[in-house]
Amino acid sequence: MNTKKKIVRGGTLVSATGITAGDLLIVGEKIAAQAAPGILDAAAVDEVIDAQGMLVLPGLIDPHVHFNSPFMGTVTVHDYENGTQAAAFGGVTTIIDFSTQPKGGSLLANLEQKEEEARGRTYIDWSMHGILLDAGTQTLAEIPELIQEGVPTYKCFTTYKHAQRMVQDDDIVALLEVTARHGGMLMVHCENDSIIEYSIRQALAAGNYAPIYHARTRPPEAENIAIQRVVDLMRQVTAPVYIVHTSTAQSVEIIAKARMDGLPLHSETCTHYLALTEEYLLGPKGNFYICSPPLRKQADVDALWQAARAGFLEVVSTDDAGVPPEDNLRLSQGRFDKTPNGIASIETRLDILHSEGVCKGKITWPQLVALTSTNPARLFGLYPQKGHLAPGADADLVLYNPNSKWIMGAEVLHMNTSFCPFEGWEISGQVDSVLVRGQDVIRNRKLVGQPGFGRRVFRRLEA
Ligand SMILES: [Zn+2]
Repeated sequence: MNTKKKIVRGGTLVSATGITAGDLLIVGEKIAAQAAPGILDAAAVDEVIDAQGMLVLPGLIDPHVHFNSPFMGTVTVHDYENGTQAAAFGGVTTIIDFSTQPKGGSLLANLEQKEEEARGRTYIDWSMHGILLDAGTQTLAEIPELIQEGVPTYKCFTTYKHAQRMVQDDDIVALLEVTARHGGMLMVHCENDSIIEYSIRQALAAGNYAPIYHARTRPPEAENIAIQRVVDLMRQVTAPVYIVHTSTAQSVEIIAKARMDGLPLHSETCTHYLALTEEYLLGPKGNFYICSPPLRKQADVDALWQAARAGFLEVVSTDDAGVPPEDNLRLSQGRFDKTPNGIASIETRLDILHSEGVCKGKITWPQLVALTSTNPARLFGLYPQKGHLAPGADADLVLYNPNSKWIMGAEVLHMNTSFCPFEGWEISGQVDSVLVRGQDVIRNRKLVGQPGFGRRVFRRLEA
């Protein structure tokens, strides 16, 4: 058992509630104490980590990634080894991926298989959510078992009818009912399928194949009314719901209103919706910016920042789901509707939120920590083990140099792809070191961790 004692000295500790100069004592895998600067006895420990000039953050949690995931005729670029390595370089110490129920089959069986893929391969800690394709008898019966297994969150889709992934209102009601009874949380991908399918037919009939038509055929209304529908159903059958990748200004209004009415509704947005607009779909690399929901307009971006600041959006995830750029081009055949959706960005979240958010006065450092670590830990049942720097928590931490200046690009990042959605962007701040449960994974911007060190985390939702 690891009983090493370490002091992290001279840094500035950032929590979801404030910023303070302080040192940390780590004993084995846990944070043992937070102390005023210089008080801890350096002679009594095995190692002193110099955090002078650094911000010390709780390790980031990414509750929305798709690793090793077959999709539209290809597979996402990140597997559990290279994906968690890139995650660590981005200050992430825990990821939550998805296990998809086979159509008509057992989610629990798939979960076992998916966990086997991850086990022994990750640099950082990990867990899974379920993806439900139906609300049949077997699925509903498996949900309590899933929660028992430490997987209390599971997602369904209101779209992708053509891929047989869509659930109907009666399914959602049944899922809400079982969720309320057993203490889970239902995650919903909200886009109205009828609007999208109709719009795609219209666009193709008019010969409109370019990437921008991906956004035109998935209008904000498709997302807004799908979210409104879930909220209306929640008023009848109330259970915790988490809306994934919220992207429109009106969506956050619907969510804010529901929350003010007391509904247990939670929501995230993703790095790309906060930093990019649909203009990128018009550019030479438009194909690679296709994701669902699509990139929106500047007014939406502004509303998302405002909602993140106000606390109506509680989490920023990445929805890391890029496919190899050559597969994107091969499969798309110049048509937006055949292009695999998804952007790889597992490594970029902290730097983009710092550069575009904190440095531009849109959010504060504590808000950044809340959005990327503390809130996801609380919402997904990782708290108090993870998501903060108080004694007793896992010693998952990031030493972040806020003064580093560099240019982001695929060449300097560690993601398994030649496409970076923020290629050429000027970045302020950089991850210097990352510890997972007291163990170095990144030290002075070099990978020192080992694949297989990461552990499956048992999740239990707060009552
Ligand atoms: Zn996703």
